[in-house]
Amino acid sequence: MVYAGQCHCAALSYAYETAAPPSSWGVRACRCAFCRAHQARTTSDPTGSLAFQIHDRTRLVRYRFGLRITDFLLCAECGVYLAATTTTPRGRYGVINVNALREIPPGMAAPQPMSYGGESESERTARREARWTPITGDL
Ligand SMILES: [Zn+2]
Repeated sequence: MVYAGQCHCAALSYAYETAAPPSSWGVRACRCAFCRAHQARTTSDPTGSLAFQIHDRTRLVRYRFGLRITDFLLCAECGVYLAATTTTPRGRYGVINVNALREIPPGMAAPQPMSYGGESESERTARREARWTPITGDL
């Protein structure tokens, strides 16, 4: 199944492909200050794929903080936090913010609170290579 998401003004969009039923998604509510401020709920599938379509590049903001190894993709026009991406030696990986899905799938799993503050950079990269969704196409 492909799940479509976009920012409010539709400048930025994603297509998230996963065979997993929404009831089995690992939905995470990270407790960092950025994610709390957006009430972000993220998910990923290492056996799925994630593709972005950027209809207006002037509206794409890549916000970085902390270890500065992650691009938090935000819309400069409407303010929506769409997804996060990272590049490692093994490839490019991302998580979607499910709040940007065009329709929240019925029965989607409830978010689990998460904290990643104690991770080193190498631990974080290894976790993402194992759990985040491979990105296809440009971005
Ligand atoms: Zn927008």
